[in-house]
Amino acid sequence: MRRTLLESLVHGPLTEPAPSPDQAALAELAKTVNRAARAKLGRSLSIRQVDAGSCNGCELEIHALNNAFYDLERLGLRFVASPRHADVLMVTGPVTKNMRQALLRTYNATPDPKWVVAVGSCAVDGGIFAGSYAVVGGVKDIVPVDLHIRGCPPSPTELLRGLIALLENVTGATR
Ligand code: SF4
Repeated sequence: MRRTLLESLVHGPLTEPAPSPDQAALAELAKTVNRAARAKLGRSLSIRQVDAGSCNGCELEIHALNNAFYDLERLGLRFVASPRHADVLMVTGPVTKNMRQALLRTYNATPDPKWVVAVGSCAVDGGIFAGSYAVVGGVKDIVPVDLHIRGCPPSPTELLRGLIALLENVTGATR
């Protein structure tokens, strides 16, 4: 035990250092999302995240957008607690049988105009969970999807690029 403690003091942790994100590029991406949202919607973008059966890997990346490190709310991206306040539904995971109805209800509760973004490879077609007795398919099998952001999981930067692509293709969106 004493030897292990001494070794850990001398050698330091064995974990890999966290990648240092390009702060300037991230801030620029977030600003672009906000500018595009204001141009198309006249206000900031509100996002409701729906976990339809994910392993939670995609959630970790989505939550990272809002943590103290990235802190993108300061640039106008907001995650909201109710679909009634959302412009975008960000759906992760394969859609499980247990979550099918909840996803449909969430979609129906979101006011028009609304957009659905399927996040992660599982959200496209079930991914590694496709064929499971508990899975009914990808997000597009339950609700209309406007954008797929692939990856397992996609990084915060890829999420922002996806939102920019979504907003750039939106037309006539004011509520
Ligand atoms: S895409 Fe990867 S990280 Fe996301 S829910 Fe599927 S297995 Fe998990």
